Amino acid sequence: MVIRFRLRLRAVSLLTVGWGIPDVLGADIVTARKVKADGTYEYYVPGSTVKGVLRSAASRVAGAYGFTSCGEVDPEKVRKAHEAMGGPCDVCTLFGYPYPSVEGASKVYVSDFSPVGRPAPVIVARTALRDDTQTVREGSLRSVEHLLPGSEFVGEVRVDGAASRLVPLLLLAVAELRTSRVGRGSLVDARVEDGGALDAVVAPEWRGLLEGVRSWLWEGVV
Ligand SMILES: [Zn+2]
Repeated sequence: MVIRFRLRLRAVSLLTVGWGIPDVLGADIVTARKVKADGTYEYYVPGSTVKGVLRSAASRVAGAYGFTSCGEVDPEKVRKAHEAMGGPCDVCTLFGYPYPSVEGASKVYVSDFSPVGRPAPVIVARTALRDDTQTVREGSLRSVEHLLPGSEFVGEVRVDGAASRLVPLLLLAVAELRTSRVGRGSLVDARVEDGGALDAVVAPEWRGLLEGVRSWLWEGVV
């Protein structure tokens, strides 16, 4: 069995578009552009970006809600942490873990996110800061492309039915993502669109959470 739902994202602040952006501007890249067959391009949010953000969010909140997280990234440290815990943590079980194991594959698949309507771009001149000194680099004024608040994207999330008990952890990550800064400062709202399908998946104690993530958090702000 595969559990699937749509996840809709809406920019609450400017979203940086990753396209020829110098590294010095940091990991504030949420949106990207891809060239289509006809030579035009469209904005999208890579599924790997969304998955990474959800994983970090899940790690932050897991412990507060009775789920486990080893909190490690380095493969060897993850392996040792799981050994000490008597098995893989919940976050790694859901999102996958980096050392060889039959069970190590991710139980979550996140598609690329396509734009809903036409996201409105804006070009902003930014000054690159040197990371070490926070001083402005000479000649480093760059034009950076952003998408305006209100831009929306939709994608699909699929969860292996074998990990259904961890769907609430995924929903907690969606809820957490809406109140935390993505990359270097973007704020993104998120809404689960499941057509009621998750009612049969999550236990009654998580019903309030499920209802919460079915609505925008920042409604009326943008
Ligand atoms: Zn882990």
